[in-house]
Amino acid sequence: MTRISSSPAGVTILGATGSVGVQTLDVIGRHPDSYAVDALVANRKAKELARLAIEHKARLAVVADESAYGELREALSGSGIEAAAGPQAVIEAAQRPAPIVMAAIVGAAGLDATMAAARRGARVAFANKECLVCAGPLLLDAMRQGGGDLLPVDSEHSAIFQCLDTDQRDQILRLILTCSGGPFRGWSRDRLEHVTPAQALKHPTWSMGAKISIDSATLMNKGLELIEAHFLFDMPSEKIDVVVHPQSVVHSMVEYADGSTLAQLGSPDMRTPIAVALAWPRRIPVPVPGLDLARHSTLTFEAPDEVAFPALPLAREALRRGGTSPAIMNAANEVAVQSFLEEKLDFLGITACVEATLDGVAAPPLDSLDTLAQVDTQARAYARQYLGRKRAA
Ligand code: NDP
Repeated sequence: MTRISSSPAGVTILGATGSVGVQTLDVIGRHPDSYAVDALVANRKAKELARLAIEHKARLAVVADESAYGELREALSGSGIEAAAGPQAVIEAAQRPAPIVMAAIVGAAGLDATMAAARRGARVAFANKECLVCAGPLLLDAMRQGGGDLLPVDSEHSAIFQCLDTDQRDQILRLILTCSGGPFRGWSRDRLEHVTPAQALKHPTWSMGAKISIDSATLMNKGLELIEAHFLFDMPSEKIDVVVHPQSVVHSMVEYADGSTLAQLGSPDMRTPIAVALAWPRRIPVPVPGLDLARHSTLTFEAPDEVAFPALPLAREALRRGGTSPAIMNAANEVAVQSFLEEKLDFLGITACVEATLDGVAAPPLDSLDTLAQVDTQARAYARQYLGRKRAA
C-alpha cells in the first residue's frame, strides 16, 4: 500500500486543466492540512495551467506541447514555480516523489506518465480509463512491482470498489455498471444519423470533457468502462452487466450469491469519487449535496439498446479477442471522436469506424509497451484512411 503521510501529502495532477483535474484541485483546496499540490500537467493550455499552479501553490507546471512552453514561462514569471515542457517532462513530473498522482489526461496519451507513477509505487487515482483499456495487464504489473494502490476515480468503478468484498470474491455473482444512457437515450438509429457535436456534448447528468461526453453519447464510454472493470476487479466480461439508469444516482452495484446487491448512491458529482480516491481508507468531506431520496422518487433502470448503440457489444468483442484488440478499439475511437467533433464525420460513423478498424488491423498479443505503441500507430493510421475513404465516397 502507498504510504501517505498524515500532513500534507503531495499530489501531482496529470491533466490538471481538464474537468477531472480542476475538480481534483477543488477537493485538494478544501483540505490544505491533508494535501499539497506538487506538479500540474496539461497539454497546451499554458495560461490556464499557470493560473491554477499559482492559485494552488504548485512547485512545477508542465505542458506536453513544447510550443506552449514560452507562454507557460511568461505566465509563471516571478511566481517561483518551475516550468517544463515536452513528453519527457510529463513523465518526469509523474516520477517526482509525490505520494499521490491523479491520472486525468484524456486518452492513451496519458499512458507513459501513468506507467511512470505506477512503477515508483505512487497511489494512482485513476480517471484515465483509456490507459487501462489499452495496457491493462502491463499497467497492473507496473502497479504490483511498484507496490502502490490503483484507486478508481470513474464514479462507477469507485462505487464497485466501495461495495466489493475482496475477501469473498467467490461469492460475487456479477458487477452491474450503471449508465445514464447519454443525451440520446431512447433514440432510434435513424434519428441518430443527424446528431450534431453540440447536441452530443450536452450530457443530461454529468458535466465532463468533450471526449468522454461524446463517448457517453455513443455508449463507447460504457464499453471502455466494461474493459476497465474487467482489469480493475479481475472479472470476466460475462460477469459484468450494464443497466441504464438515467438519474445517475446509483453509481454501480455488486451482486452476491446470498441474494444481496450492494450499491453506492450519491449526487452525480465527480468530487465524491475523487475524494474517495485521495483519502481512502479514510473519508473527507466535500460540498456535494446529500441525496434527498424522497425527491428522487422515481429511480428507473432499463436494458441498454445495443442496436442503436453498438459500441457496447463492440467493446465486449474487443475484450473477447483480447491482446491488443482493446487498444485498437480505443485508438480508432479516439480518431473517430476527434473527427466527429471537427464535424468531418457523422455520429453513427464513430462506431462504424471502430468496428472497421477492429476488423482491419491485426491484433498481436500485448507483450510490451513497444508492441502497444506500434499497434496504436497502425490502428490510428487505419482509422484515418477509413475516414478519408468514407469522405471521398
Ligand atoms: P478534459 O478534456 O476535460 O481534460 C483533459 C486533460 O488532459 C486536460 O488537462 C488536457 O490539457 C490534458 N491533456 C490532453 N492531452 C494531453 C497530453 N498529450 N499530455 C498531457 N496532458 C494532456 O478531460 P476529462 O477531465 O473529462 O477526462 C479526463 C480523463 O478522465 C478521461 O480519460 C475521461 O474518460 C476520464 N473521466 C472523466 C470524467 C469526467 O467527469 N470528466 C469522469 C470519469 C472519467 P489541455 O487542457 O492543455 O488540453
